[in-house]
Amino acid sequence: MSNHVDTTCVQGGYQPNNGEPRTPPIVASTTFKYTSSEQMSRLFDLSESGYFYTRLQNPTSDTVAQKICEMEGGAAAMLTSSGQAANFFALFNICNAGDHIVASSAIYGGTYNLINVTMRKMGIECTFVNPDCTPEELDAAFQSNTKAVFAESLSNPSVKVLDFDKFVNAAHSHGVPLIVDNTFPTPINCRPIEFGVDIVTHSTTKYMDGHATVVGGAIIDSGNFDWMKYAEKFPGMTQPDDSYHGVTYAKDFGKAAFITKATVQLMRDLGSTPAPINAWILGTHLESLGVRMQRHCENAQKVAEWLAQDPRISWVNYPGLPGDEYHELAQRYMPNGTCGVIAFGVPGGREKVSAVLDALKMIAIATHVADARSCTLYPAGTTHRQLTEEQLEEAGVGIDLVRLSCGIENADDIIADLDQALDAVKD
Ligand SMILES: *Cc1c(COP(=O)(O)O)cnc(C)c1O
Repeated sequence: MSNHVDTTCVQGGYQPNNGEPRTPPIVASTTFKYTSSEQMSRLFDLSESGYFYTRLQNPTSDTVAQKICEMEGGAAAMLTSSGQAANFFALFNICNAGDHIVASSAIYGGTYNLINVTMRKMGIECTFVNPDCTPEELDAAFQSNTKAVFAESLSNPSVKVLDFDKFVNAAHSHGVPLIVDNTFPTPINCRPIEFGVDIVTHSTTKYMDGHATVVGGAIIDSGNFDWMKYAEKFPGMTQPDDSYHGVTYAKDFGKAAFITKATVQLMRDLGSTPAPINAWILGTHLESLGVRMQRHCENAQKVAEWLAQDPRISWVNYPGLPGDEYHELAQRYMPNGTCGVIAFGVPGGREKVSAVLDALKMIAIATHVADARSCTLYPAGTTHRQLTEEQLEEAGVGIDLVRLSCGIENADDIIADLDQALDAVKD
């Protein structure tokens, strides 16, 4: 297969044989028929691979997981029913009650709640770090029971670019994997595994689907983390699983160990399975990801440049702007572009910000980013409204921050809409 990701997103994951359907069939079947109960037993023992129940695996979903796996340059991958499920599974696959996570504080609000509230209830503690901290500060966040480091490659919504080297070094020097949510840049613009990241997650709901149609998630494992080297830290990976007649994932499944465990334990028990039809829609939409990302980035660059010179705006964050705090990191890790999301400040307080957004005509107010249609959101008033002002500051989401997701329309129309809305509320 080509090593051009924009070719892989079209061609990867499904190679029909002579006379077979050109596109992957939608296997709308909960179950799979066998003629021998002996063979079914082997499937249940994991001594033979094969489909038997769609809660665990489905052929349509697997073609799409395989496409994403190839795009990220991973060893194995799985789809989940949402990005939330992907991040939860990626962490819970290796963390038990009594364990600890180090996480960047600049992450999606839903993930912050998952780690800070729900996972704490399960007895998994977390230390949040400012992703721009010094290596020493990052080092100090680790404990003897730390089992994973979590960060976003490009943070939602503050578009901070992760210093991969710093996070990879810290995680590996403490013998734990680095898990990176790569939702915003997508593998078109950034392939975290190339920088040493062990496990990549996605909310495929965003650019991957790209049309605001299906919620979904994905986990991609590089297969590079050496579980056996830190066997005592990761008993779930390195000791026999009684619920599967004593298989030992890290020994018996090679580079597929992490994904196999997440599939047969977490999918089996928690069932956050995507519907095959949703996987199929995602797979179809992925074919255009390369051209869409290019257009999203071109549009965002034009809009960011326009906003940056406009006196009605107090500041603009977009890593594509030469003066941006993250421009250098973006050049290093995402040289072809970042994403279509811009953050900017509208002075004048909550009411003024809301009034500007209400005056927009084409750009919609939506709890979404990263689809073909431009949309905008006021995080401090919506997705991040549970956070205190202090936590907002920590998450890089000020009270004046507007998040704008540039779609794939003509950039001039996005700019014209912003211009009239800012004019409409002149004081
Ligand atoms: C949206 C999002 C999620 C959550 O994904 P859902 O598909 O909405 O469950 C996780 N991480 C990031 C970076 C996101 O943008």
